[in-house]
Amino acid sequence: MENNANSGCKRCLLYEMAGKDDVIAQVEKTRKLLSEDERATDEEYKKRLATCKDCDKLIDATCLKCGCYVEIRALSKGARCPAKKW
Ligand code: SF4
Repeated sequence: MENNANSGCKRCLLYEMAGKDDVIAQVEKTRKLLSEDERATDEEYKKRLATCKDCDKLIDATCLKCGCYVEIRALSKGARCPAKKW
């Protein structure tokens, strides 16, 4: 996906932002720590992140409702959106 780091867009995910490599690495580390049974499917993960991208609570990859980086929160199959959007 296109890097929007210089677009001034606040509604971006980590992988779209410059200077967040350490957090992006944490996303991958968390993904590897989860077993296949614990992990959301790739399809569900993408669907969740697409919903977050359209949500007015997403600012700088962080959900203002729960304070989480959504790319980490959405990894777990059992995780839920605090606004019940996913
Ligand atoms: S409220 Fe839900 S959809 Fe919105 S950013 Fe947070 S987790 Fe994503």
